[in-house]
Amino acid sequence: MQIPGAIDPLVAPRAPLSANGLTDILGLSRDELRTALIAAGVPERQARMRAGQIWHWVYHRGVTDFEAMGNVAKQVRTLLVARFIIGRPEITDAQYSEDGTRKYLVKFADGSEAECVYIPEEDRGTLCISSQVGCTLNCRFCHTGTQRLVRNLTAGEIVGQLMIARDDLGEWPASTEGRKVTNIVMMGMGEPLYNFDHVKQALQILMDEEGVQLSRRRITLSTAGVVPEMQRCGEEIGVNLAVSLHAVTNEIRDEIVPLNKKYPLEELLKACRAYPGTHNARRITFEYVMLKDKNDSDADAKELVRLLRAYDLPAKVNLIPFNPWPGSIYECSSDDRIRRFSDLVFSMGISAPVRTPRGRDIMAACGQLKSASEKLRKSRRA
Ligand code: SAH
Repeated sequence: MQIPGAIDPLVAPRAPLSANGLTDILGLSRDELRTALIAAGVPERQARMRAGQIWHWVYHRGVTDFEAMGNVAKQVRTLLVARFIIGRPEITDAQYSEDGTRKYLVKFADGSEAECVYIPEEDRGTLCISSQVGCTLNCRFCHTGTQRLVRNLTAGEIVGQLMIARDDLGEWPASTEGRKVTNIVMMGMGEPLYNFDHVKQALQILMDEEGVQLSRRRITLSTAGVVPEMQRCGEEIGVNLAVSLHAVTNEIRDEIVPLNKKYPLEELLKACRAYPGTHNARRITFEYVMLKDKNDSDADAKELVRLLRAYDLPAKVNLIPFNPWPGSIYECSSDDRIRRFSDLVFSMGISAPVRTPRGRDIMAACGQLKSASEKLRKSRRA
Protein backbone atom coordinates (compact mmCIF):
# COMPACT_ATOMS: atom_id res chain seq x y z
CA MET A 1 0.00 0.00 0.00
CA GLN A 2 1.29 3.43 -0.82
CA ILE A 3 1.93 5.60 2.19
CA PRO A 4 2.32 9.23 1.29
CA GLY A 5 5.33 11.09 2.68
CA ALA A 6 5.90 14.47 4.22
CA ILE A 7 5.65 16.23 0.95
CA ASP A 8 2.12 16.95 -0.03
CA PRO A 9 1.35 14.17 -2.49
CA LEU A 10 -1.75 15.79 -3.89
CA VAL A 11 -2.38 18.51 -6.34
CA ALA A 12 -4.74 21.33 -5.55
CA PRO A 13 -6.03 23.66 -8.20
CA ARG A 14 -4.91 27.27 -7.97
CA ALA A 15 -7.40 29.84 -6.74
CA PRO A 16 -10.19 28.84 -9.05
CA LEU A 17 -11.57 31.04 -11.74
CA SER A 18 -15.30 30.82 -11.82
CA ALA A 19 -17.01 29.70 -15.01
CA ASN A 20 -17.15 33.24 -16.36
CA GLY A 21 -13.46 33.92 -15.75
CA LEU A 22 -13.92 35.97 -12.57
CA THR A 23 -11.56 35.50 -9.63
CA ASP A 24 -13.02 34.27 -6.38
CA ILE A 25 -11.73 36.40 -3.53
CA LEU A 26 -12.78 33.92 -0.85
CA GLY A 27 -9.64 32.38 0.60
CA LEU A 28 -7.20 35.03 -0.63
CA SER A 29 -4.91 36.33 2.09
CA ARG A 30 -5.11 40.05 2.82
CA ASP A 31 -1.93 40.63 0.83
CA GLU A 32 -3.20 38.62 -2.09
CA LEU A 33 -6.42 40.58 -2.04
CA ARG A 34 -4.57 43.89 -2.05
CA THR A 35 -2.40 42.77 -4.98
CA ALA A 36 -5.44 41.55 -6.88
CA LEU A 37 -7.17 44.88 -6.35
CA ILE A 38 -4.19 46.78 -7.72
CA ALA A 39 -4.03 44.46 -10.73
CA ALA A 40 -7.72 45.15 -11.30
CA GLY A 41 -7.08 48.90 -11.42
CA VAL A 42 -7.77 50.07 -7.88
CA PRO A 43 -5.29 52.91 -7.22
CA GLU A 44 -2.33 51.63 -5.23
CA ARG A 45 -2.66 54.14 -2.40
CA GLN A 46 -6.26 53.03 -1.79
CA ALA A 47 -5.65 49.32 -2.08
CA ARG A 48 -4.90 48.55 1.56
CA MET A 49 -7.93 50.46 2.78
CA ARG A 50 -10.22 48.89 0.17
CA ALA A 51 -8.92 45.42 0.98
CA GLY A 52 -9.74 46.06 4.64
CA GLN A 53 -13.26 47.22 3.83
CA ILE A 54 -13.96 44.28 1.53
CA TRP A 55 -12.52 41.87 4.08
CA HIS A 56 -14.92 43.15 6.70
CA TRP A 57 -17.96 42.83 4.41
CA VAL A 58 -16.96 39.33 3.34
CA TYR A 59 -15.89 37.78 6.63
CA HIS A 60 -17.81 39.79 9.18
CA ARG A 61 -21.04 40.54 7.35
CA GLY A 62 -21.20 37.52 5.04
CA VAL A 63 -21.96 39.67 2.02
CA THR A 64 -21.66 38.01 -1.40
CA ASP A 65 -22.58 41.01 -3.52
CA PHE A 66 -20.13 43.87 -4.07
CA GLU A 67 -23.00 46.30 -4.59
CA ALA A 68 -23.96 45.84 -0.93
CA MET A 69 -20.62 47.27 0.23
CA GLY A 70 -21.92 50.69 1.14
CA ASN A 71 -18.63 52.31 2.16
CA VAL A 72 -16.80 51.26 -1.01
CA ALA A 73 -16.89 53.98 -3.69
CA LYS A 74 -19.24 53.28 -6.59
CA GLN A 75 -16.38 53.40 -9.10
CA VAL A 76 -14.46 50.77 -7.20
CA ARG A 77 -17.55 48.58 -6.83
CA THR A 78 -17.94 48.61 -10.60
CA LEU A 79 -14.33 47.44 -10.97
CA LEU A 80 -14.92 44.69 -8.44
CA VAL A 81 -18.08 43.42 -10.12
CA ALA A 82 -16.23 43.20 -13.44
CA ARG A 83 -13.32 41.16 -12.08
CA PHE A 84 -14.27 39.25 -8.96
CA ILE A 85 -16.84 37.17 -7.25
CA ILE A 86 -17.31 36.24 -3.59
CA GLY A 87 -17.84 32.55 -3.97
CA ARG A 88 -19.64 29.96 -1.96
CA PRO A 89 -19.39 26.24 -2.39
CA GLU A 90 -22.80 24.82 -3.09
CA ILE A 91 -24.71 22.85 -0.44
CA THR A 92 -26.00 19.89 -2.39
CA ASP A 93 -27.50 18.19 0.60
CA ALA A 94 -28.14 19.25 4.19
CA GLN A 95 -29.27 16.75 6.78
CA TYR A 96 -30.47 17.63 10.23
CA SER A 97 -30.02 15.08 13.00
CA GLU A 98 -32.45 14.66 15.87
CA ASP A 99 -29.72 15.87 18.20
CA GLY A 100 -29.29 19.17 16.37
CA THR A 101 -26.22 18.12 14.39
CA ARG A 102 -26.26 19.37 10.82
CA LYS A 103 -24.34 17.67 8.05
CA TYR A 104 -23.66 19.48 4.83
CA LEU A 105 -22.60 17.91 1.59
CA VAL A 106 -20.57 20.62 -0.03
CA LYS A 107 -19.85 20.78 -3.75
CA PHE A 108 -16.91 22.75 -5.12
CA ALA A 109 -16.45 24.45 -8.48
CA ASP A 110 -14.92 21.36 -10.13
CA GLY A 111 -17.82 19.18 -9.00
CA SER A 112 -15.96 17.31 -6.25
CA GLU A 113 -17.54 17.12 -2.84
CA ALA A 114 -16.71 16.95 0.84
CA GLU A 115 -18.66 16.99 4.06
CA CYS A 116 -18.83 19.44 6.89
CA VAL A 117 -20.67 18.97 10.18
CA TYR A 118 -22.08 21.44 12.71
CA ILE A 119 -22.36 20.11 16.27
CA PRO A 120 -24.23 22.27 18.78
CA GLU A 121 -23.58 21.78 22.49
CA GLU A 122 -24.81 23.63 25.52
CA ASP A 123 -21.93 26.04 25.81
CA ARG A 124 -20.53 26.02 22.29
CA GLY A 125 -21.07 25.13 18.66
CA THR A 126 -18.38 23.25 16.83
CA LEU A 127 -17.91 23.11 13.10
CA CYS A 128 -16.03 20.08 11.82
CA ILE A 129 -14.31 21.05 8.57
CA SER A 130 -12.75 18.90 5.83
CA SER A 131 -9.26 19.55 4.48
CA GLN A 132 -9.33 17.18 1.51
CA VAL A 133 -11.82 15.50 -0.74
CA GLY A 134 -11.33 11.90 0.42
CA CYS A 135 -8.14 10.85 2.21
CA THR A 136 -4.96 8.92 1.35
CA LEU A 137 -4.32 7.45 4.78
CA ASN A 138 -6.52 4.37 4.60
CA CYS A 139 -7.11 3.97 8.32
CA ARG A 140 -8.85 0.62 8.49
CA PHE A 141 -11.76 1.75 10.62
CA CYS A 142 -12.52 4.97 8.77
CA HIS A 143 -15.16 5.30 6.11
CA THR A 144 -13.55 8.26 4.37
CA GLY A 145 -10.57 6.07 3.49
CA THR A 146 -12.76 3.96 1.22
CA GLN A 147 -13.55 6.88 -1.03
CA ARG A 148 -11.59 6.78 -4.26
CA LEU A 149 -11.47 10.36 -5.34
CA VAL A 150 -8.85 12.39 -3.46
CA ARG A 151 -7.61 15.92 -3.79
CA ASN A 152 -6.52 18.77 -1.56
CA LEU A 153 -8.95 21.58 -0.90
CA THR A 154 -7.87 25.16 -1.57
CA ALA A 155 -7.88 27.76 1.21
CA GLY A 156 -11.08 29.21 -0.27
CA GLU A 157 -12.76 25.84 -0.22
CA ILE A 158 -11.79 25.30 3.41
CA VAL A 159 -12.98 28.75 4.49
CA GLY A 160 -16.04 28.27 2.28
CA GLN A 161 -17.27 25.51 4.59
CA LEU A 162 -17.56 27.96 7.47
CA MET A 163 -19.27 30.48 5.20
CA ILE A 164 -22.00 28.10 4.07
CA ALA A 165 -22.56 26.88 7.63
CA ARG A 166 -22.98 30.48 8.77
CA ASP A 167 -25.30 31.19 5.84
CA ASP A 168 -27.40 28.18 6.85
CA LEU A 169 -27.39 29.11 10.55
CA GLY A 170 -28.31 32.70 9.74
CA GLU A 171 -25.27 33.94 11.57
CA TRP A 172 -24.37 37.25 9.95
CA PRO A 173 -23.00 39.64 11.03
CA ALA A 174 -20.53 37.43 12.83
CA SER A 175 -20.41 39.32 16.12
CA THR A 176 -18.39 37.64 18.82
CA GLU A 177 -21.34 37.50 21.25
CA GLY A 178 -23.92 34.74 21.12
CA ARG A 179 -22.34 33.00 18.19
CA LYS A 180 -23.45 29.63 16.99
CA VAL A 181 -20.12 28.54 15.54
CA THR A 182 -17.68 29.16 18.39
CA ASN A 183 -15.15 26.41 17.71
CA ILE A 184 -13.56 24.82 14.67
CA VAL A 185 -12.12 21.35 14.45
CA MET A 186 -10.11 20.27 11.42
CA MET A 187 -11.47 16.76 11.84
CA GLY A 188 -13.55 16.24 8.75
CA MET A 189 -12.43 14.37 5.68
CA GLY A 190 -8.73 14.31 4.88
CA GLU A 191 -5.40 14.73 6.61
CA PRO A 192 -4.87 18.45 7.25
CA LEU A 193 -1.10 18.16 7.57
CA TYR A 194 -0.89 16.75 4.03
CA ASN A 195 -2.46 20.00 2.86
CA PHE A 196 -0.42 22.24 5.11
CA ASP A 197 -0.22 25.47 3.11
CA HIS A 198 -3.89 25.71 2.29
CA VAL A 199 -4.97 24.72 5.78
CA LYS A 200 -2.62 27.33 7.22
CA GLN A 201 -3.91 30.08 4.96
CA ALA A 202 -7.53 29.15 5.67
CA LEU A 203 -7.01 29.09 9.44
CA GLN A 204 -5.19 32.40 9.34
CA ILE A 205 -8.24 33.90 7.67
CA LEU A 206 -10.50 32.40 10.32
CA MET A 207 -8.29 33.81 13.08
CA ASP A 208 -7.92 37.27 11.52
CA GLU A 209 -8.92 40.05 13.90
CA GLU A 210 -10.86 41.89 11.24
CA GLY A 211 -12.52 38.82 9.87
CA VAL A 212 -14.02 35.80 11.51
CA GLN A 213 -12.09 36.47 14.72
CA LEU A 214 -11.85 32.97 16.07
CA SER A 215 -9.20 32.55 18.72
CA ARG A 216 -6.55 29.92 18.02
CA ARG A 217 -7.54 28.38 21.33
CA ARG A 218 -10.90 27.55 19.83
CA ILE A 219 -9.42 25.79 16.82
CA THR A 220 -8.16 22.21 16.93
CA LEU A 221 -6.32 20.43 14.18
CA SER A 222 -6.38 16.66 14.23
CA THR A 223 -3.64 14.62 12.59
CA ALA A 224 -3.04 10.91 12.21
CA GLY A 225 0.60 11.74 12.94
CA VAL A 226 2.41 13.39 10.03
CA VAL A 227 5.46 13.87 12.21
CA PRO A 228 7.57 16.15 9.97
CA GLU A 229 4.79 18.76 9.78
CA MET A 230 3.83 18.86 13.44
CA GLN A 231 6.44 21.33 14.61
CA ARG A 232 5.55 23.74 11.80
CA CYS A 233 1.90 23.40 12.66
CA GLY A 234 2.57 24.62 16.18
CA GLU A 235 4.94 27.36 15.14
CA GLU A 236 3.19 28.71 12.07
CA ILE A 237 -0.47 28.09 12.83
CA GLY A 238 -0.46 27.79 16.62
CA VAL A 239 -3.77 25.98 17.03
CA ASN A 240 -4.54 23.16 19.47
CA LEU A 241 -3.34 19.75 18.45
CA ALA A 242 -5.27 16.50 18.48
CA VAL A 243 -3.55 13.26 17.57
CA SER A 244 -5.32 10.14 16.36
CA LEU A 245 -3.41 7.67 18.51
CA HIS A 246 -5.83 4.72 18.61
CA ALA A 247 -3.28 2.11 19.70
CA VAL A 248 -0.43 1.69 22.17
CA THR A 249 1.76 -0.76 20.26
CA ASN A 250 3.32 -0.39 16.84
CA GLU A 251 1.91 -3.75 15.88
CA ILE A 252 -1.72 -2.72 16.32
CA ARG A 253 -1.19 0.83 15.15
CA ASP A 254 0.50 -0.40 11.96
CA GLU A 255 -2.64 -2.36 11.29
CA ILE A 256 -5.28 0.26 11.96
CA VAL A 257 -3.40 3.49 11.09
CA PRO A 258 -0.99 2.44 8.31
CA LEU A 259 0.78 5.82 8.48
CA ASN A 260 2.37 4.38 11.63
CA LYS A 261 4.69 2.32 9.42
CA LYS A 262 6.23 5.57 8.30
CA TYR A 263 6.12 7.45 11.59
CA PRO A 264 6.02 4.92 14.43
CA LEU A 265 4.73 5.57 17.93
CA GLU A 266 8.03 6.63 19.50
CA GLU A 267 8.61 9.29 16.84
CA LEU A 268 5.05 10.46 17.04
CA LEU A 269 5.12 10.84 20.83
CA LYS A 270 8.45 12.64 20.67
CA ALA A 271 6.98 15.09 18.16
CA CYS A 272 4.03 15.61 20.50
CA ARG A 273 6.40 16.33 23.36
CA ALA A 274 8.05 18.99 21.21
CA TYR A 275 4.77 20.57 20.05
CA PRO A 276 5.11 24.31 20.61
CA GLY A 277 2.88 25.97 23.18
CA THR A 278 1.95 22.81 25.02
CA HIS A 279 1.72 22.96 28.79
CA ASN A 280 -0.66 21.83 31.50
CA ALA A 281 -3.24 24.44 30.69
CA ARG A 282 -3.03 23.65 26.99
CA ARG A 283 -2.81 19.93 26.58
CA ILE A 284 -2.67 17.72 23.52
CA THR A 285 -5.77 15.65 22.88
CA PHE A 286 -5.17 12.01 22.08
CA GLU A 287 -8.05 10.48 20.20
CA TYR A 288 -8.58 6.82 20.82
CA VAL A 289 -11.23 4.90 18.89
CA MET A 290 -12.70 2.01 20.90
CA LEU A 291 -12.49 -1.18 18.84
CA LYS A 292 -13.75 -4.38 20.38
CA ASP A 293 -10.94 -6.83 21.29
CA LYS A 294 -8.45 -4.78 19.32
CA ASN A 295 -7.25 -1.94 21.51
CA ASP A 296 -9.68 -1.83 24.43
CA SER A 297 -8.25 -4.04 27.21
CA ASP A 298 -7.23 -2.96 30.72
CA ALA A 299 -3.65 -3.60 29.69
CA ASP A 300 -4.09 -1.18 26.78
CA ALA A 301 -5.43 1.49 29.13
CA LYS A 302 -2.46 1.04 31.48
CA GLU A 303 0.02 1.10 28.63
CA LEU A 304 -1.61 4.25 27.30
CA VAL A 305 -1.06 6.05 30.59
CA ARG A 306 2.46 4.68 30.88
CA LEU A 307 3.34 6.01 27.41
CA LEU A 308 1.88 9.46 28.01
CA ARG A 309 3.86 9.65 31.26
CA ALA A 310 7.06 8.26 29.77
CA TYR A 311 7.02 11.03 27.19
CA ASP A 312 6.01 13.58 29.81
CA LEU A 313 3.04 14.73 27.79
CA PRO A 314 0.45 17.23 29.03
CA ALA A 315 -2.34 15.11 27.65
CA LYS A 316 -6.02 14.44 27.69
CA VAL A 317 -7.54 11.41 26.09
CA ASN A 318 -10.71 11.45 24.06
CA LEU A 319 -12.33 8.04 23.77
CA ILE A 320 -14.36 7.70 20.59
CA PRO A 321 -16.86 4.87 20.39
CA PHE A 322 -16.29 3.28 16.99
CA ASN A 323 -18.96 4.37 14.55
CA PRO A 324 -19.79 1.54 12.18
CA TRP A 325 -20.43 2.02 8.48
CA PRO A 326 -21.56 -0.41 5.79
CA GLY A 327 -18.73 -2.89 5.21
CA SER A 328 -16.62 -1.98 8.24
CA ILE A 329 -14.68 -4.91 9.69
CA TYR A 330 -14.52 -3.75 13.30
CA GLU A 331 -17.04 -3.61 16.10
CA CYS A 332 -17.44 -0.99 18.76
CA SER A 333 -16.42 -1.97 22.29
CA SER A 334 -19.32 -2.49 24.69
CA ASP A 335 -20.51 0.43 26.79
CA ASP A 336 -19.20 -1.32 29.91
CA ARG A 337 -15.78 -1.80 28.37
CA ILE A 338 -15.59 1.83 27.31
CA ARG A 339 -16.66 2.99 30.75
CA ARG A 340 -14.10 0.75 32.45
CA PHE A 341 -11.33 1.90 30.10
CA SER A 342 -12.23 5.51 30.76
CA ASP A 343 -12.36 4.99 34.55
CA LEU A 344 -8.98 3.26 34.55
CA VAL A 345 -7.29 6.07 32.66
CA PHE A 346 -9.00 8.64 34.91
CA SER A 347 -7.91 6.74 38.03
CA MET A 348 -4.32 7.02 36.88
CA GLY A 349 -4.66 10.78 36.68
CA ILE A 350 -5.41 11.48 33.03
CA SER A 351 -8.71 12.86 31.87
CA ALA A 352 -10.38 10.45 29.45
CA PRO A 353 -13.96 11.41 28.66
CA VAL A 354 -15.99 9.44 26.16
CA ARG A 355 -16.91 11.46 23.10
CA THR A 356 -20.65 11.18 22.71
CA PRO A 357 -21.34 10.18 19.15
CA ARG A 358 -23.29 12.94 17.44
CA GLY A 359 -25.36 12.74 14.32
CA ARG A 360 -25.10 8.97 14.01
CA ASP A 361 -28.58 8.85 12.51
CA ILE A 362 -27.40 10.90 9.54
CA MET A 363 -23.96 9.24 9.24
CA ALA A 364 -22.31 12.43 10.41
CA ALA A 365 -20.32 10.94 13.28
CA CYS A 366 -16.52 10.56 13.29
CA GLY A 367 -15.31 8.35 10.49
CA GLN A 368 -18.69 8.11 8.81
CA LEU A 369 -18.15 10.95 6.41
CA LYS A 370 -18.12 10.01 2.80
CA SER A 371 -19.84 12.02 0.20
CA ALA A 372 -23.25 10.92 -0.97
CA SER A 373 -22.27 11.39 -4.61
CA GLU A 374 -19.62 8.70 -4.22
CA LYS A 375 -22.23 6.38 -2.75
CA LEU A 376 -24.51 7.18 -5.63
CA ARG A 377 -21.81 6.37 -8.18
CA LYS A 378 -21.07 3.10 -6.42
CA SER A 379 -24.70 2.08 -6.34
CA ARG A 380 -25.03 2.86 -10.03
CA ARG A 381 -22.01 0.69 -10.80
CA ALA A 382 -23.36 -2.19 -8.75
N1 SAH B 1 -6.78 12.71 9.30
C1 SAH B 1 -7.01 13.37 10.56
C2 SAH B 1 -8.35 14.04 10.58
C3 SAH B 1 -9.53 13.11 10.65
S1 SAH B 1 -10.26 13.38 12.19
C4 SAH B 1 -6.81 12.40 11.70
O1 SAH B 1 -6.63 11.22 11.43
O2 SAH B 1 -6.77 12.80 12.85
C5 SAH B 1 -11.40 12.20 12.38
C6 SAH B 1 -11.25 11.43 13.68
O3 SAH B 1 -12.23 10.41 13.69
C7 SAH B 1 -9.89 10.72 13.76
O4 SAH B 1 -9.46 10.63 15.08
C8 SAH B 1 -10.26 9.38 13.22
O5 SAH B 1 -9.29 8.42 13.55
C9 SAH B 1 -11.59 9.15 13.87
N2 SAH B 1 -12.38 8.13 13.18
C10 SAH B 1 -12.28 7.73 11.91
N3 SAH B 1 -13.16 6.74 11.64
C11 SAH B 1 -13.85 6.53 12.78
C12 SAH B 1 -14.93 5.66 13.11
N4 SAH B 1 -15.46 4.84 12.22
N5 SAH B 1 -15.42 5.71 14.36
C13 SAH B 1 -14.90 6.59 15.25
N6 SAH B 1 -13.90 7.43 14.99
C14 SAH B 1 -13.36 7.40 13.76
